[in-house]
Amino acid sequence: MADIEIRGVSKRFGPVTVFDGLSLSITSGEFVVFLGPSGCGKSTLLRMIAGLESVDGGEIHIGAARVDTLPPGARQVAMVFQHYALYPHMTIFENMAFGLRNIGLKRLEIEARVQEAARTLEIEPLLQRKPGQLSGGQRQRVAIGRAIVKEPRAFLFDEPLSNLDAALRVRTRVELARLHRRLRATMIFVTHDQVEAMTLADRIVVMNEGRIEQVGTPMEIYARPATRFVARFVGAPA
Ligand code: ADP
Ligand code: MG
Repeated sequence: MADIEIRGVSKRFGPVTVFDGLSLSITSGEFVVFLGPSGCGKSTLLRMIAGLESVDGGEIHIGAARVDTLPPGARQVAMVFQHYALYPHMTIFENMAFGLRNIGLKRLEIEARVQEAARTLEIEPLLQRKPGQLSGGQRQRVAIGRAIVKEPRAFLFDEPLSNLDAALRVRTRVELARLHRRLRATMIFVTHDQVEAMTLADRIVVMNEGRIEQVGTPMEIYARPATRFVARFVGAPA
């Protein structure tokens, strides 16, 4: 079952055309990585799915709904921002609960969701602290927790590991894979890092200058690169 469908989407910034009729289908529950060099359009595509960027043509469908004219809050997706997007004056609990108050959930429901997400991410002991009292890795988990409590159909990550040091990057990668197995939600993860893509993805979407070069499993991409660009970019034998 397709969870997210991008149909012939175009996007321009002034005179610059980023996408001209891009199509892609993402299956429910899969971990998809958008992989490509800086400037190829990964963030723009993710932001169009999230509703943070308008589309100039084409359609985006999430579940049974056409969403490309809906506001971000009505799309059943949650974008995970870098950890510095936490509110410094609020506790971790309040940071995670914030978005839920806005959609009018009852206090008991909010507490239950925050507790459950905190248990999943093993950050229960941190709930009464402020972001400034947390390590980078802990703050990253809180940022993910803020998305989990919304119970979205899909999680959208834009290079979430790029500000972490090497050891933490590896650890967070392992945790993200575990989280995906546990939640069974659709996840889209944007990166320019081939190793991240190869280790995390069910399917990789290789992008170059606003076009999709190839969609395939890590094995397919590596063993049978469809274009010279893909071979070069993933370091596979051409
Ligand atoms: P990536 O995330 O793969 O590095 P982006 O999606 O950020 O790429 O950018 C794709 C292209 O769109 C680039 O040429 C970039 O300069 C351009 N672009 C992105 N956002 C804007 C914007 N707000 N205004 C003008 N150009 C933009
Ligand atoms: Mg980007």
